[in-house]
Amino acid sequence: MRIHICADMEGTCGVYSWMQVTPPETPWSPPIKESEYDRCRLRMTHEVSAAARGALSAGATEILVNDFHGGNRNIFIDELDERCRLVSGGAGPMNFLQGMTPETKGLFYTGFHSKAGTVSSALAHTWSTNLNDLRIAGESTGEFGLIAYCAGALGVPVLLVTGDQTACDQTEAFLKRPVVKAVVKEGISQTGAISMHPKRAQRLIEENAAQAMKLIGNVEPAVLPENARVELDYDHQSRAEAAERQGGAERIGERTVAFTAADGIDLLHKFVNTMRASAIPLSP
Ligand SMILES: [Zn+2]
Repeated sequence: MRIHICADMEGTCGVYSWMQVTPPETPWSPPIKESEYDRCRLRMTHEVSAAARGALSAGATEILVNDFHGGNRNIFIDELDERCRLVSGGAGPMNFLQGMTPETKGLFYTGFHSKAGTVSSALAHTWSTNLNDLRIAGESTGEFGLIAYCAGALGVPVLLVTGDQTACDQTEAFLKRPVVKAVVKEGISQTGAISMHPKRAQRLIEENAAQAMKLIGNVEPAVLPENARVELDYDHQSRAEAAERQGGAERIGERTVAFTAADGIDLLHKFVNTMRASAIPLSP
C-alpha cells in the first residue's frame, strides 16, 4: 500500500522566517544564515520521517517522499526513515506528483503553509511570493487545493495535513470532508509563530499519520470540475505580461491571467508553465 508525501518546509514546527527556508543559492535570497536553514531542513526531515513511521505502522508498505520546497533539495536523505524513497532535485514532468501512480492509496501534506493573502499566518503564500491569489473554478485556494485536484486526476485523496493552524484549516475547508490534521504551530504575523516543541510535533505527526490511514476507502479524491477556469493574480503587471507572452495564458486584467484546465493533470502542467514564465526579474 503506497503513500505519497508532498513535503514542504514553511509549515515545519519552529519555522517562521524566510531566512530559515531559503537555500543560499536562491538568486533573490534574503540574508541567509546557512546554519539556521540547515537546522530547519533537518527538522523538516524528521517531520517527514514521523509521518512515514505513522503510515508504516498502520498498513502502508511503501512511502514515496517528494521534496516539494524551493529547489527540491532540502531533505537530508541520510536522516530520513530508511524505508522511504525520495524524489528530489530538478522537477520531473509531473513535478510534485512525480512517482505517484494510480496504485498510490493516499497523499500526505507535511510542512504546509496557508494560501497567499492569509492574515497573521507565517510565510503564507501560494507557490511563490509573486502570486497574490489563485482561483480554481471560482474558489480562492493555495497549494493544498492545487495539489489535491492534480492528485485527484490519479484517484488519490489527501489523508493528512501537517503545518500551521490556518494551513490545516484551509485544507479541510477546501476538501469539504474529514482530513486528519497535525497542527504544530499558530501564526501570529507574516513572519512570526507560536510553535510547540519540535519533538512533541514529531510525535503528534506520527500518531496522526497512523490515524489518517483509516481514511483510506472512506474519502473521495478531489476531482476538478471539467474545463475549470483557473485565474492567477500577480503582484506586478510585468508578470502577467510574461505569463501571457511566454506561458500562453490569457490576459484578463492588469495583473491577472487565466487558463482553462481539462482535468487535474492539465491543471498541473498549465499552472507550472504559467508560473515559470512569470518568474521574471522586475528590474535589470
Ligand atoms: Zn515551500
